[in-house]
Amino acid sequence: MISLNPARCVHYYSKLSECDKCETICPTDAIKTQESALAIKQDACIGCGGCVGVCPTEALQLSNFNVTEFFFDFVKSDEEIISCKSNFVCLAALSVDYLISLGLAKKVTLDIGHCATCDIKDACFSTIENAVAEANYVLEAIGGKTITAEPLGVQKEEVPNRREFFNIFSLQGAAKVKAQMETAMESLEDPTIGLSPSQIEAIRKKDIPNKRKLLFTLLRRAEKPREYKYLENEYLSFTSDKVVDETCDNCSVCYRICPTEALSSDAKQSAIYFDALLCVRCHLCHDVCEKDSIRLAEFFDTKELFEPTQKVLRKFRVERCIDCGAFFTYFGGEKMCPRCKIEEEEAKSLWGIE
Ligand code: SF4
Ligand code: SF4
Repeated sequence: MISLNPARCVHYYSKLSECDKCETICPTDAIKTQESALAIKQDACIGCGGCVGVCPTEALQLSNFNVTEFFFDFVKSDEEIISCKSNFVCLAALSVDYLISLGLAKKVTLDIGHCATCDIKDACFSTIENAVAEANYVLEAIGGKTITAEPLGVQKEEVPNRREFFNIFSLQGAAKVKAQMETAMESLEDPTIGLSPSQIEAIRKKDIPNKRKLLFTLLRRAEKPREYKYLENEYLSFTSDKVVDETCDNCSVCYRICPTEALSSDAKQSAIYFDALLCVRCHLCHDVCEKDSIRLAEFFDTKELFEPTQKVLRKFRVERCIDCGAFFTYFGGEKMCPRCKIEEEEAKSLWGIE
């Protein structure tokens, strides 16, 4: 069974969202994206967790397996192997954030020995390969241990069956995960991490996915690389760097809709700010921008992972409207806000004034 938190799925933010990651990976067509909604056929769900791994905003959760809980238990244990036959669901449930966090925490091998003969390999295997390749691309650049994916063929007999296995995990309890996460979040208050109070507030307020909170915590503990490298943005799926070009008219839709507050502005809406470490690359800001003014930058600076900054993507001149007194983005001419201008035009046409 899969559960959806609509407050996180980008389709519930805007009907313009083009996200179909969960629908694409689902091997049994249990998920269908619709305008402003998601339809889930629970009886078709086989609980593989592929959709959980690819969802950028963590809108989907398996009801009997929690990846965050698994992460804490695995990191604490002496185990180094993750296998769908012993301790995990389908490896596709491991998102790039989790894989990078694992590589920062310990030596990890993914057992892909069962993928070739698995019924759902066509839907899930390329996602596993791509996620491992991307995580290793980042880990190599920042000095973590790369993830090994090998056909070990861990056998079923050595481990509890799937039902017992799920019971073990569900018994461990959500309360423990919550407590661990709260401790991790408290440690973010440490001034050495380099997050500004507004960034910490944004993380709290916007309910950043657990996988990203974990990554923050692991990055904070990791040794900073001697020199920071640039990664190609097109090879990344878990975060991004962005540019906003001169066609932007500051309509404000992108920073009002961004589910993680990676995009934001100030009280007067005089700028567009961007925090790469908060971006989960859901693509919503691109989908809703009518003028196509927001785009990916060519490169991603790995310094953002260790010393996050709030980048100014665009600054605007803001003036007070001579009519209503409200602040508006001023591009020249009469200092009247668009709403008052429209009202003035309507009044003129009503009274037949040129
Ligand atoms: S992957 Fe996540 S955000 Fe995208 S449609 Fe599915 S549930 Fe919504
Ligand atoms: S900046 Fe854009 S891609 Fe990144 S989380 Fe916000 S809306 Fe999604």
